[in-house]
Amino acid sequence: MSILTVPPKLRDTHLQRQALIYLRQSTLIQVRENTGSTTRQYQLADRARQLGWLEPQIRILDQDQGCSGASSVGREGFEQLVTEVGLGRAGAVFSLEASRLARSCSDWYRLLEICALTDTLVIDEEGIYDPGQYNDRLLLGFRGTMSEAELHWLRNRLLGGKLAKAARGELRWHLPTGYCYDAAQRIVLDPDEAVQQAVRLLFTLFEHSGSALAVVKQFAAQRLRFPTAPWERGANSEVRWQPLSSERVLQILHNPAYAGVYVYGRTQTRTRTLPGEAPRLKGRTRPVKLAEWPILLFDHHPAYLTWEQFLRNRQRLEDNRTVRDEDRCGAAREGGALLQGVVLCGRCGRRMTVRYLPGNIPSYECNQQHKQWGGKTCQSLRGDGVDRAVAQALLEAITPAQLEIALATFEAVEAQARQFDQQWQRQLERARYEAELARRRYLAVDPDNRLVARRLEQDWNARLTEVEQAERDYARRPATQRPPLGPREREKILALAQDLPALWHAPTTTQTQRKQLLRLLIQDVTLSPQDPVIRIAIRWQTNACTTLEVTRPLRSCETRRTAPAVLARLRVLARTHTDAQIAAQFNAEGLTPGASHTFTASKVSWLRYAYQIPSGCPQGPGACPGGQRGDGRYSAKAAAALLNVDVSTIADWCQSGRLEAVQTAPHRPRWIRLTPEIINTLRRPYRQRKPRHHTD
Ligand SMILES: [Zn+2]
Repeated sequence: MSILTVPPKLRDTHLQRQALIYLRQSTLIQVRENTGSTTRQYQLADRARQLGWLEPQIRILDQDQGCSGASSVGREGFEQLVTEVGLGRAGAVFSLEASRLARSCSDWYRLLEICALTDTLVIDEEGIYDPGQYNDRLLLGFRGTMSEAELHWLRNRLLGGKLAKAARGELRWHLPTGYCYDAAQRIVLDPDEAVQQAVRLLFTLFEHSGSALAVVKQFAAQRLRFPTAPWERGANSEVRWQPLSSERVLQILHNPAYAGVYVYGRTQTRTRTLPGEAPRLKGRTRPVKLAEWPILLFDHHPAYLTWEQFLRNRQRLEDNRTVRDEDRCGAAREGGALLQGVVLCGRCGRRMTVRYLPGNIPSYECNQQHKQWGGKTCQSLRGDGVDRAVAQALLEAITPAQLEIALATFEAVEAQARQFDQQWQRQLERARYEAELARRRYLAVDPDNRLVARRLEQDWNARLTEVEQAERDYARRPATQRPPLGPREREKILALAQDLPALWHAPTTTQTQRKQLLRLLIQDVTLSPQDPVIRIAIRWQTNACTTLEVTRPLRSCETRRTAPAVLARLRVLARTHTDAQIAAQFNAEGLTPGASHTFTASKVSWLRYAYQIPSGCPQGPGACPGGQRGDGRYSAKAAAALLNVDVSTIADWCQSGRLEAVQTAPHRPRWIRLTPEIINTLRRPYRQRKPRHHTD
């Protein structure tokens, strides 16, 4: 070993500790394409060997391949590096260019501080730096700042180029349906007449109806389809024709490109995350207000409508909105419908919306099919009964008895989790012990006995891999542990359960608070109507399910329907009674027809007609021949038909006394008593007609 090659900053205390080689490529593309850099980074291990580190002390941290250095969030390797350095287990940190370790200055300075405290060197291709020494630290700090600045300039250059291109209206993007790029890369109307017509029709229909849904409905009613241009539509690529959705109409109406305007910056994307926030692969995109659009070039390309029309359409859409952004999501709102925002349709699985019927009765409706495609409303249900049932289920679920069971289950789960954990600890212990055994075996063997030594080394390596695997599995196992419940917490929970029903029903509790309370325990509620009940499936926050059934409330048409019991009575009475008699009888009994309060002969007659109930009894005045009263007397017309004579003959016979008749007043209809004997004696064998002018 030659002393001269060992640089003065590198001492034995460093060599005895680990050499950490940190590798990173910012993007997966760099990892794939820029293999030269990766190879150079791996060669750092050779440099560590040259500087005097032994093989087992050299550790490569390459988990961060494909992660940006702009922040340490989500970079496992960097975190590990900082941990190792912080624990004083590292002698030196190797990186291709020291400043590549972290592109963010805060991460970089933090690492330097820790390196200085734990006497850890920073080594790159160019030199060895000791962050404990003032000059080196200054240099490293400066390089870190430069590195971050470089990232900033790089981004600005790229973005600046893009902006400059957009300002000239030359930045290309995916064109909306109805436009194409021509050979000279200018935006032109789609040469396909059918596509152009479809776009124009959409704008015309909106101009007439002023509602996006009305446009969808008209397209659906005519079974018309709407074109969708695939990405980068070339001369040969096909346009897909699909049913028009309301979302699509809104997209088109909101797109200023149709007014011939080139706009850049309608949305803004934010990718930076706060410390502790989960890293995002894609940024969060927000729309930018029209007044703040950065680049707006009028008359840039052929238009389907004028800018004024575009603005008017936007305003109309804004005026049409019944739901504003602020109350858009499923947040608990003021209204009386308890399940608002958590109710799902049992038929199609979509989320149901709330509408209020007169009297502030909630109604749950599945109308997305209608809203999106102009189709039918899937189902709508009166919500008051459902709300009551769910509230009751909720309160029952939190009775002290139920909670006792839940707590017991919770403890059982906890005990099981503890058992699992113990099992894991044993497994880990065993793996570590075996690795240690393998290590000792390897160290004990005579190095000259190479064959055995190599086999034992392999064995040791294999054991170490097993330990690593076991530790990884242990870290990844589903988390089941929670802090155990003490007796005091149990008491508190049980006391709360007793207070809950009172709290729920208290007049000071607002409906919003009830909804919030409900959402603490219930994930969603699915409603499926199955005549004559509604099945309610409650999914609790624990993923357990409860099903209930409530009687389906009568529809408004059903409330106007006459009760089946009344109809049954009518069927019996109709055989022997006239409609007027039945009406009188029903009224006396206090029975009512459908929605109104009293029966009349005509209502009875209508009911018989509607339910096809034949009458065994001839009806009152004006009824057909054969008309007979409840007391068995016949009308003059009926008597005339039975006896084969004219009505005037009957009148003569009544006056002469051959027939016995009653009359409420002079000139009122006569009601004639006929018996089989009378019919036999008076009946004529054939109809005798008086001259026409004599009949009355
Ligand atoms: Zn549905």
